[in-house]
Amino acid sequence: MDFLLPEDITALSESVARFAATEIFPVMPEFEKTGEFPHVIVQKMAAAGFFGAAFPEAVGGSDAGFLAVSAISETISRLAPEFGYCMNMQAMTCPFTIFNWGTGDQISRFVPDLIAGKKIGMFALSEPGGGSDAAGSMKTTAVRDGDVYRLNGSKQWITFANEADTGILFAKTDPAGGHRGVTAFIVQPKEFAGFTANPIPMTGLSKSLCSNAVFLDDFVVPVGNCLGTEGDGFKIAMNALEYGRLTVSSRSVGLAQACLDHARDYANQRVVGGNPIGEYQMVQHLIADMTVNIEAARLLVHKMAWLMDRGEVSNRAASLAKYAAVNAAKHAAASASEIFAGYALADEYPIKKITAYVNMLAVGEGTPNVQRILIAEDALGIKDANRHPVRNRLRAPNVK
Ligand SMILES: Cc1cc2nc3c(=O)[nH]c(=O)nc-3n(C[C@H](O)[C@H](O)[C@H](O)COP(=O)(O)OP(=O)(O)OC[C@H]3O[C@@H](n4cnc5c(N)ncnc54)[C@H](O)[C@@H]3O)c2cc1C
Repeated sequence: MDFLLPEDITALSESVARFAATEIFPVMPEFEKTGEFPHVIVQKMAAAGFFGAAFPEAVGGSDAGFLAVSAISETISRLAPEFGYCMNMQAMTCPFTIFNWGTGDQISRFVPDLIAGKKIGMFALSEPGGGSDAAGSMKTTAVRDGDVYRLNGSKQWITFANEADTGILFAKTDPAGGHRGVTAFIVQPKEFAGFTANPIPMTGLSKSLCSNAVFLDDFVVPVGNCLGTEGDGFKIAMNALEYGRLTVSSRSVGLAQACLDHARDYANQRVVGGNPIGEYQMVQHLIADMTVNIEAARLLVHKMAWLMDRGEVSNRAASLAKYAAVNAAKHAAASASEIFAGYALADEYPIKKITAYVNMLAVGEGTPNVQRILIAEDALGIKDANRHPVRNRLRAPNVK
């Protein structure tokens, strides 16, 4: 048993690893050849309970908690990083935000199908003008027209937008209102006209599970799909990112652990100058630093999950965990590349692919600089990182 980890969480990680070996590895190369979205695998992940851990049984969840979400995210990312995206779109940022902020009707219409893998989710905040200042750079507008809103503008990098049935999309209902002018909408790209998603080619990342440039041309959203009330959007986005940071940090630890696992095996078997390179002190230095960084980052991620499971404020813990996990993953990817040397660049070894996902996770849910700003302002007493109230219907139902 791992330090602090209950046995059922360790067993859960092992079952995710078995799932990857039996349900993903044998079939995924075919999906990558064609670029087809692997619906069948996503549905099997759902059936295996990957997406429902944070939700009550009433909406189809298992109420296993956030430590379980973290364990599933870490293991799937360690073994099949492209499926890490699903932990955001099917398990956290999309459905959990609807669960936290939606009306009873919105929850029952959208949440169960997302965590059952019947509908594909997305979370559309970033725009071409800059993801780090999401509200400031937001040009997408939503104008009320009778029973609907009409949305115009564009979004950038939106993962699964080319397949999404249900998403959360942010637009300005009051363009002059700054942060308070942003409104969150539950959108249904396949149901209403005006939504176009074009996959963005990205070497090293999956063609089947991909991110997109999105264009909105009088895209229709029924008034009943407004999430919260007009002007709540920025608050909702910041709350969603807190939960997104749990999966992104866990996924980063998984990638870092993958680098260590591969580098350790390679260092033990690669003989240069008559010795396995793992016997050379400078290679041992890399392995030692990777090991310590990963253990430390994992503990910070588990602390964030523990706070979330207790229904406590976790913004500060989320920024610390995200920053530490991405640093551990970046260091691990660079160290593994050094240990593999020329073979790090060969397609037959996994280091190139893992490094691409490390770079992706570094920017998702806030770049390292964004985390540094949040952490430093908190440490300096300029802005309390934990100033945002808890929003978690299940764990802290009385806190608004
Ligand atoms: C593969 C992929 C998938 C993604 N999926 C999604 C998704 O599903 N939904 C979604 O909404 N977004 C998604 N994103 C977008 C992601 O969240 C953004 O890339 C991220 O927020 C950074 O925005 P940016 O790339 O525009 O960088 P910018 O905001 O342009 O930042 C560029 C650099 O400037 C730095 N910087 C910016 N402002 C400051 C400042 N004030 N002080 C110091 N440094 C600063 C940043 O840290 C960064 O290093 C995805 C991105 C990728 C690459």
